[in-house]
Amino acid sequence: MGRPLKVVVVGDSRNRALRVAADLEQAGYAPSFSAVSSEAELAAAAGADPDLVVAWRSTPSLPAETALKVLRSTGRPVPLFVYAETYTEEEIVGLVRGGATDCLRKGDLPRLRAAVERELETRAARGRPGVLDAAAVEDRYRALIEEIPALTYVAWADENASRAYVSPQLQAMTGYTPAQWLSEPDMWVRRLHPGDRERVLRQFREACASKGRFASEYRILDHEGRVLWWRDEGRPLAGPDGSTRFMRGFVLDLTEQKLAEESLRRMRFYDQLTGLPNRVLLLNRLGRGLAEAARTGQPLALLILALDRFREIGNTLGHHNADLIVRDLAARLGDVLGTSDRVARLRGDEFGVLLPDADASVAGQMAAQTLNVLEKPFLVQELPIEISASVGMAIAPEHGAEAELLLRRADVAVQAARKLGGGASVVYSKEHEPHDPSQLALLGELRRALERNELLLHYQPKVDLKKRTVIGAEALLRWPHPRRGLIPPTEFIPLAEQTGLMRPLTRWVLHRAMGETRSFQRDGRALPVAVNVSARNLYDTEILDDVADALLTNGMAADRLQLEVTEHAVMADAGRAAAVLGGLTRRGVGVSIDDFGTGNSSLRLLRRLPVGELKIDQSFVGGMMGEGGEDAAIVRSTADLGHNLGMTVVAEGVEDQWTLDALTGLGCDSAQGFYIARPMAPGDLVRWLGQSPWRMVES
Ligand code: C2E
Ligand code: MG
Ligand code: MG
Repeated sequence: MGRPLKVVVVGDSRNRALRVAADLEQAGYAPSFSAVSSEAELAAAAGADPDLVVAWRSTPSLPAETALKVLRSTGRPVPLFVYAETYTEEEIVGLVRGGATDCLRKGDLPRLRAAVERELETRAARGRPGVLDAAAVEDRYRALIEEIPALTYVAWADENASRAYVSPQLQAMTGYTPAQWLSEPDMWVRRLHPGDRERVLRQFREACASKGRFASEYRILDHEGRVLWWRDEGRPLAGPDGSTRFMRGFVLDLTEQKLAEESLRRMRFYDQLTGLPNRVLLLNRLGRGLAEAARTGQPLALLILALDRFREIGNTLGHHNADLIVRDLAARLGDVLGTSDRVARLRGDEFGVLLPDADASVAGQMAAQTLNVLEKPFLVQELPIEISASVGMAIAPEHGAEAELLLRRADVAVQAARKLGGGASVVYSKEHEPHDPSQLALLGELRRALERNELLLHYQPKVDLKKRTVIGAEALLRWPHPRRGLIPPTEFIPLAEQTGLMRPLTRWVLHRAMGETRSFQRDGRALPVAVNVSARNLYDTEILDDVADALLTNGMAADRLQLEVTEHAVMADAGRAAAVLGGLTRRGVGVSIDDFGTGNSSLRLLRRLPVGELKIDQSFVGGMMGEGGEDAAIVRSTADLGHNLGMTVVAEGVEDQWTLDALTGLGCDSAQGFYIARPMAPGDLVRWLGQSPWRMVES
């Protein structure tokens, strides 16, 4: 005799009730029955505390869904098994979501037995302290799903991803009730922001087709048409035939986060007072505008309008009133320019205007128009206030092809305009550059030192890592200053670069380096020499004559000379640099790219340059011992790059044995650095060559 079981069977036909009884008996139970076929009968039977209720899915008078509702309304935790011949996936999901304990197929005795045992155990556990009954578990689960701050949903894997279920959070999130949301199959798609719709649907369909995860961020409109940001993640569920039938997922509302991000962005890129772009955004746009201008070959103008006597106005009228004037001016500028996205507030009293496709004459007309907006007085507490302004202009590419530089030059121009007095506009020119008097004095001294031949060269050897030989020396300029001691080249070369002094300086270095190398040769220490040339030299074809002249005068073969140019200098105008470097290599002079890794070379440009050597900047070489190994990786990949382009690779700035040993493994051919030898006066170099463990090559 099996275990007694109190069962309520929901069904119209006695046969179906008997079928359930037969299955239960065969599964080893002794069921006692009551059969019900109306909601009232079921409610009454549930009150008698049965072990379980079995409902045929498709009983016309009382379908399983209705039976579930009735049981829920009694509030009693009676398990309900649904019985049917077959199910579809959707039916199972729907029934289980409606509260069914299990969906069983007629005659599936092992499953029936397992399900009943589970329920009996749950019943036995009920009442035991600390153990939740099934209903409580269900409640908790439901609460979890329905109270977490996320929307859960089940969607059909159809064309519109129509929703089969949405959790109640929908209402708080969108203002729609779940019923409204489910009432139309394309509700979700219709509420998707048109800008995101196509992409999101594509992602949804791809996830369904590949049975992969669906993850998307998109905008969706709520009941009142407000834009919400949703993060949606779903997993496809397969039907009996293996194809995706559903997507089950959840949605997080990111709207607040996005708004916070947006307001941060606004703070970063916009001026709070006028709502105009700020300096940072103007620089961004200027950068993009310049790239476009370079592509199309069109000029671009940057105009700065600065109010005159603005600080005075703030002091006399009060800062609040000064702010009102600035706001009014911003609006007026927006009006003349037709759009305000080309205007930015740079600082207190300065506005920047970006003019694509404008040369100096167009910019001049715009300057006049912007100055016109000041003709009408500003009203401050009904008092008319007259304000004048000055305009400075810089035109790309003539005055600079980089955003920072162009902005600085427009600023130099506006300061010059200010000096001319109210209402002036000035186009940048070199003469407007302010000169630092102390720098000017230094420059004068440098010129004199050069004329009096007071400068010196020190030489730093370069060694071949494999052959352990000395293969050359780099000439480095030194200025022994009577009061300031030895001034490093990094302090005075940039100064010379801004003036006409760079050419005579380089010419001096070329002659001196070649002359001194010749004297090494007489001492039996023949060495190729490397000379650094600056950006200025590189854009000046006269360097070709200067080099040829120095070679001739000093009787030196071109292949004994190497010129070093920094990556920065080359990339500032790669086209022109390539022309000059091409001229040098055609004459047989070697060219080397110095400080490689600190500029922004493109591979395409590098390939076109006639360069035989690449010097990896000392910042990477010096950092090789550091944690993380990024610098070592950079050294290795730079060496690979150089070799792929057919260049020799030199590591600069080797300061210890460890780095020296590591370089060969990283693919470098040669090296320079304090550990091998510091830059030395010519006499010291000759002595060093005699004693060094690094051998001289015969030449
Ligand atoms: P550079 O051409 O990259 O020269 C290497 C610089 O690194 C030299 O500084 C050298 O003294 C220094 N150095 C060499 N080995 C080590 C090392 O192991 N550790 C460290 N920390 N530093 C090392 P210097 O002589 O002060 O020259 C600085 C830069 O000035 C040069 O960089 C070059 O760009 C420029 N320069 C020097 N002489 C001339 C010149 O005659 N003409 C031009 N146009 N530029 C020059
Ligand atoms: Mg160098
Ligand atoms: Mg260098």
